[in-house]
Amino acid sequence: MEDTTILDFEFEAHPNPVGAADRTALLADLGFGKVFTDHMVVIRYTADRGWHDARVQPRGPIQLDPACAVLHYAQEIFEGLKAYRLPDGGAALFRAEANARRFAESAERMAMPPIPDALFLESIRALVRADRDWIPDGEGSSLYLRPFMFASETFLGVRPAQEYLYMVIASPAGAYFKGGAPSVTLWTSEHYTRAARGGTGAAKCGGNYAASLIAQAEAIREGCDQVVFLDAVENRYVEELGGMNVFFAFEDGSLQTPPLGGTILPGITRESLIRLARDAGVTVREEPYGIDQWQADAASGRLREAFACGTAAVVTPIGRVRGRGFDFSIGNGGPGMLTERLRQQLTEIQRGVAPDPHGWVERL
Ligand code: PMP
Repeated sequence: MEDTTILDFEFEAHPNPVGAADRTALLADLGFGKVFTDHMVVIRYTADRGWHDARVQPRGPIQLDPACAVLHYAQEIFEGLKAYRLPDGGAALFRAEANARRFAESAERMAMPPIPDALFLESIRALVRADRDWIPDGEGSSLYLRPFMFASETFLGVRPAQEYLYMVIASPAGAYFKGGAPSVTLWTSEHYTRAARGGTGAAKCGGNYAASLIAQAEAIREGCDQVVFLDAVENRYVEELGGMNVFFAFEDGSLQTPPLGGTILPGITRESLIRLARDAGVTVREEPYGIDQWQADAASGRLREAFACGTAAVVTPIGRVRGRGFDFSIGNGGPGMLTERLRQQLTEIQRGVAPDPHGWVERL
């Protein structure tokens, strides 16, 4: 088997049909996930050769056989991380090692061969270097990186595939919310849960997102922004949103967030905020929190703030929570002080304008 950690990347430069002037125009009007860079990474895995054939090549369509296993049994995982523009024009990654770890854990859960962390990290660096001109420099904007891996074997038997493709694509992203983060209204899902014990809730696999779309669609139909899921056993404890973890801030200055127990995604933003808050002397509990308690604490004023967090939306205040038969607001419905302080501290570290006490930022 080839040595998997030090593959050389074959580099095929893209002639760049976009051109610098057009790129500037594209970067001026970014949403999320619509604009893509010039290159992509492709690395192949086969059971007999291991990881091989690592390439940075022009971004473009890939051909798959209709019997390609992923199209039938959804053996697929992905990650999401960002490269930031530093004040001096350089580029930086934020905690990419944590994404490498989580990717390997997702792979294990989905019976896929884990890509070595070093190879994952090299692939990210290689793509960011190739497409560094695509990193936007406006406040709140960044280059969103999407590593993913899927069963590429042409085979309809139900068993772990023997061939996989690992790829990375990149998409410049503007501020998730223009003009700062407004607060969001959540819809509490009654019919649908996201994950059960023993399931795939802690893995970043495509199937989790497919299964959450109907609940998110219900939230939109109800006039809310995002769905919040409750636990699958008692339908009571708050788990997370479709793509973000949740925090609660109390009048005594403490924070609480649902514990990682296999049913929620171990967010890297979540873990970073826990560390920053504890560094600042804030008590952080990782304990279950019931929707009934949430309502009671919001009414009594014991709960002052709530926010959602993740790579894409960073830190987003939760202003209001609705569900079948209830509707309550948190604080004055606007961003709270602790929420704003944590959001600012995190984004300043990511953009290289605040000290980085934990060594989270890697300059490229
Ligand atoms: N929960 C879910 C279900 C998610 O998809 C994400 C986004 N990856 C998160 C939480 C937040 O994770 P992170 O902070 O690592 O982006």
